[in-house]
Amino acid sequence: MEQTLAILKPDSYAAGNTGRILAHLEAEGFTIRGLRIVHLTQEQAGAFYAVHAERPFYGSLVDFMTSGPCVPVALERENGVKHLRQIMGATNPAEAAEGTIRKQFATNIENNAIHGSDSAENAQIELAFFFSSSDLIAAQ
Ligand code: GDP
Repeated sequence: MEQTLAILKPDSYAAGNTGRILAHLEAEGFTIRGLRIVHLTQEQAGAFYAVHAERPFYGSLVDFMTSGPCVPVALERENGVKHLRQIMGATNPAEAAEGTIRKQFATNIENNAIHGSDSAENAQIELAFFFSSSDLIAAQ
């Protein structure tokens, strides 16, 4: 079993897609170990996406991620990191495969519905950004 972090981004929350995306994740075999609703500050969003600080879209991305509440979700599944990336679909929904979350729920390359950790190592760092270990429900 492998843990990963998803964030249902502010566009998903604002559009009322939180429940549908969570249902999709559960149907794909993920167990929800932790769930929050947070409205990130500019400082928090900037720190979360610090890896993109030099990219031209960084300021816009931080503004988007602070534009409303988002829903960080601690997930667990066999091969969890890779499977989440697969079912999210490509960053740009115009290039996302049929049936993927971004194909169904994203608007454009920035307002793209969901974040998913890109490696098991980053998943642990990103989970710790939103959850303390005592917040996470252990496997039953
Ligand atoms: P991801 O791993 O598929 O989420 O993609 P990245 O790590 O490359 O980018 C992080 C986030 O930045 C994406 O999910 C988008 O919200 C945003 N983003 C990525 N590329 C672009 C871009 O070219 N333009 C804009 N405006 N936003 C982007």
